[in-house]
Amino acid sequence: MQRNIICVACPMGCGMTVEVAENGEIISVKGNTCKRGDAYARTEITNPVRSLATTVKVDGGIYNVVPCKSAGALPKDKIMDCMEVINKAEAKAPVKLGDVLIENILGTGINIVATNHCPEK
Ligand code: SF4
Repeated sequence: MQRNIICVACPMGCGMTVEVAENGEIISVKGNTCKRGDAYARTEITNPVRSLATTVKVDGGIYNVVPCKSAGALPKDKIMDCMEVINKAEAKAPVKLGDVLIENILGTGINIVATNHCPEK
């Protein structure tokens, strides 16, 4: 089976064709300009991950929400479930940049951290 994917590891956005065996093993990667593309293609086929950037509600802050992100890449198939957890969460003001808002989200080992401040009202 062939999969066509675009490398997002840099702005060049190389189009790549990945040949995958029936057992899921990667036979070849073509179209990448550098080694990073090869690594991206292999991860994207075998264990796709995504970084997450969103907001968390804040209680008692000068803003209602604070921006946040995942401190590492999360499994792609858990992104929607992670968003549900994040949407239900509420941080208590004051929030400082880098504060861990949700620890080890869904057992992934990845924290959700604040990417800005939110002082108290
Ligand atoms: S293969 Fe290399 S050059 Fe092409 S988009 Fe990926 S990182 Fe950039």
